[in-house]
Amino acid sequence: MTQREVDLFVIGGGSGGVRAGRIAAQHGAKVMMAEEYRMGGTCVIRGCVPKKLFVYAGRFAHDIDDMAGFGWRVSAPEFDWLTLVANKDKEIARLEGIYKRNAEAAGVEIVASRAVVAGPNRVRILETGEEVAARHILLATGAHPALGPQIPGCELAITSNEAFNLPRFPDRILIQGAGYIAVEFAGLFRALGAEVTLVYRGDKVLRGFDMEVREHLEAEMTRAGIKLVSGKTLTSIEAISGGKRVVLSDGSELEVDEVMLAIGRIPSTRNLGLEAVGVALDELGAVVVDAHSRTSVPSIYAVGDITNRINLTPVAIREGHAFADTVFGNKPWTVDHSLVATAVFSEPEIGTVGCTEEAARAAGRPVDIYKTSFRPLKATLSGRETRSFMKLIVDGETDQVLGVHIMGEAAGEMIQLAAVAMGLKATKADFDRTIAVHPTAAEELVTLRTKAS
Ligand SMILES: Cc1cc2nc3c(=O)[nH]c(=O)nc-3n(C[C@H](O)[C@H](O)[C@H](O)COP(=O)(O)OP(=O)(O)OC[C@H]3O[C@@H](n4cnc5c(N)ncnc54)[C@H](O)[C@@H]3O)c2cc1C
Repeated sequence: MTQREVDLFVIGGGSGGVRAGRIAAQHGAKVMMAEEYRMGGTCVIRGCVPKKLFVYAGRFAHDIDDMAGFGWRVSAPEFDWLTLVANKDKEIARLEGIYKRNAEAAGVEIVASRAVVAGPNRVRILETGEEVAARHILLATGAHPALGPQIPGCELAITSNEAFNLPRFPDRILIQGAGYIAVEFAGLFRALGAEVTLVYRGDKVLRGFDMEVREHLEAEMTRAGIKLVSGKTLTSIEAISGGKRVVLSDGSELEVDEVMLAIGRIPSTRNLGLEAVGVALDELGAVVVDAHSRTSVPSIYAVGDITNRINLTPVAIREGHAFADTVFGNKPWTVDHSLVATAVFSEPEIGTVGCTEEAARAAGRPVDIYKTSFRPLKATLSGRETRSFMKLIVDGETDQVLGVHIMGEAAGEMIQLAAVAMGLKATKADFDRTIAVHPTAAEELVTLRTKAS
């Protein structure tokens, strides 16, 4: 059989790989793509999308609680976990189909198999053993959950992968971790009615976020009934009748139904044939790339979580697009990673863009801080005890807004637009000049008059 030849072989049919493959094909390239699990990748199958659907499910519980103050009488509602899981599965199957059809419609040939690099210009499809010659190879295999140290009973723990398909709702769950995935699952399981314990090694959740946001979130999580256990780790897990017994590093024990590890994600570079062809990896195993996502082997590129730059879907998509335009469209451009807005779908939600107060001060800049913490209007009648928080970090010399941090309902929606303003280098005076939209929470962003420090 003659060896098949393509212009581009994409390994991984997730956010970055699909965008790159489609755009390259639209530029006229002959593209083949291997996906070992399900088209759409982490975001669609076991990340952003199912997570947000579960977050919505939890928020209905809040809405039901809040309704009485607005005059509604509702009889005790019932929640059925398996209905939620089944409906979520239907939706992600639909999205998976769309991903597949869009890639194929653009001319991409999809191969349902694991694939590995067999040479600088060769990819092996493991299902068939076929080797395909490729002018360029794109590594877009993403990342997978870290499992941490091999403590006794660690095989009894789940990760976010399994949390989306648990056969039974965990009435008592212990989550280890303090990153965004850990706090999001803590919030959604709590809202759905679970007893939640969040255990983490550090002293606060969400390392790298603005310290006041972290403190406010911890206060809100505690108020919601989540038990926060800082400065500790898990030392063993044991199966017991009706659940699991967990021992923590201080010797304390607790019994739960599920233990979930959300302690980070590892770039999926193992057993991919990279070392043999000389693709350089960093100390975490991520592929090292230049601004054009090119690896140390000129014919091989990498985008998305495998490169561990900013591990978010829109970033992977943008990197894939830039790669395809640059290599196949004769339109070279690079992704600006400097101002990426992000949301954490915790309860309450967080939206953040730009630098934290700590980072701005560490950079030695004079900074002005504007902030507010307030009870949202809806909470007045609902009686819900919750507070929203907003903070602007402003350059003390140029008046440019360097960071916006929001915690409260719709923070993720608000931060998208704040990012547009910041991309245009908006100053605090620009924010002030903008007439408020009333009554909203967002109006606080343009009515912050008094410097906090
Ligand atoms: C629980 C969770 C929640 C998240 N929430 C958000 C969010 O709210 N917002 C956000 O922006 N980001 C979120 N993310 C992150 C987001 O999912 C990732 O940043 C994004 O999916 C990265 O895209 P990618 O193309 O690099 O990799 P992926 O989407 O992971 O795709 C990689 C694909 O490669 C396949 N693959 C791996 N190895 C091989 C091989 N050798 N051969 C063939 N196929 C292979 C995998 O099966 C996978 O389908 C979340 C992630 C998780 C886990």
